[in-house]
Amino acid sequence: MFNLENIRKDFPILSRKVNGKSLIYFDNAATSQTPKQVIDVIVAYYSNYNANIHRGVHTLSQEATDLYEQAREKIRRHFNAKHAHEIIFTSGTTHGINLVANGFSSLLKKGDEIIVSALEHHSNIVPWQMLCERTGAVLRVIPMNDDGELVMSEFDKLLSEKTKLVFVNHISNALGTINPIEYIIEKAHQVGAAVLIDGAQSSPHIKADVQKLDADFYVVSAHKMCGPTGVGVLYGKEAWLKKLPPYQGGGEMIAEVTFEKTTYADLPHKFEAGTPNICGGIAFGAAIDYMNRIGFKAIEKQERELLQYGTEKLLEIEGLKIYGTSEHKTSVISFNLEGIHPYDVGTILDKMGIAVRTGHHCAQPIMDYFKIPGTVRASFAFYNTKAEIDSLVEGVKKAKMMLS
Ligand code: PMP
Repeated sequence: MFNLENIRKDFPILSRKVNGKSLIYFDNAATSQTPKQVIDVIVAYYSNYNANIHRGVHTLSQEATDLYEQAREKIRRHFNAKHAHEIIFTSGTTHGINLVANGFSSLLKKGDEIIVSALEHHSNIVPWQMLCERTGAVLRVIPMNDDGELVMSEFDKLLSEKTKLVFVNHISNALGTINPIEYIIEKAHQVGAAVLIDGAQSSPHIKADVQKLDADFYVVSAHKMCGPTGVGVLYGKEAWLKKLPPYQGGGEMIAEVTFEKTTYADLPHKFEAGTPNICGGIAFGAAIDYMNRIGFKAIEKQERELLQYGTEKLLEIEGLKIYGTSEHKTSVISFNLEGIHPYDVGTILDKMGIAVRTGHHCAQPIMDYFKIPGTVRASFAFYNTKAEIDSLVEGVKKAKMMLS
């Protein structure tokens, strides 16, 4: 049973003041807040279990290893990966993407093509540009339309036997558009290309089933899902992970080392060099437990209502334009007030205790498309309320009055 009042009590930060006002947190697409159930796990870890994992015979090390591996299993179950060793712990989405991009350096040749979309975060553009520089592969871009949707007929035209990789986000962080990844994956596979889905923005809202989607890679960050910063996972199909070379060398990722030759450990350790973020991984497991206890159906329903309510209310303000008007979108409202810089609106809202993000949201090509320097982005989570949206609307009206 979804009880918003009780849920809000789980998040200590929601009762703090900012600039003398009750915090209203609408920057969830940048990072989500952390419930006490996850904070408690972090405290318990450093109070009781802190030890290095996988290599100790002593009790603490074994207990920490068990907790870490249990978290991997929770994450496997959540995303419905076939094997736990297909879940690679990373420092976040950016790390996961770079790991895959680096791995493909030895698998691509000059003239091969990589497709990304016009809706990508910089972390899903720059690593592929770097890969193209290393290999001579060519980057192609699926264009978007005025609603902030990808134009699938253009994607169809880009696909050919030259296409080796396709990278798209499941949900755009700048506009909230939900991309038709099922179609993209199916079509890309028809020409033999591998598909990486950037799930940084979808994972807090939608429970993805990587086997059903048939994604080759799916990357997420824990901090967008009520977990801590500095940890995430890369899901990769076993066959691909076996094929890709390791990203980093070091301890933990080897089978045997001599100065003549080193052999690599089996999955997942081949991609997990060095001491990982052990506490972070365990806390990520706890965050996934927390979100599943609330239930993704209830989360989606609450966020859909917030999005609809917020969109209607904000559009009542004259001169306010929303960017990203697809029917298929999730809880992000990116907007501008006519003739007013988004930074100024964000600064005034902050004075009222309202946290929104302003700027290009690491998605400059989208801003270029709309010919704007950036937007004000209010992004909702399941713990936000309609009353908070009312305060946002009042705040935006005040900002408009002060800045016009
Ligand atoms: N992709 C998308 C769509 C994102 O929203 C983000 C975070 N803003 C990232 C990638 C990068 O995630 P991280 O900074 O956690 O590596």
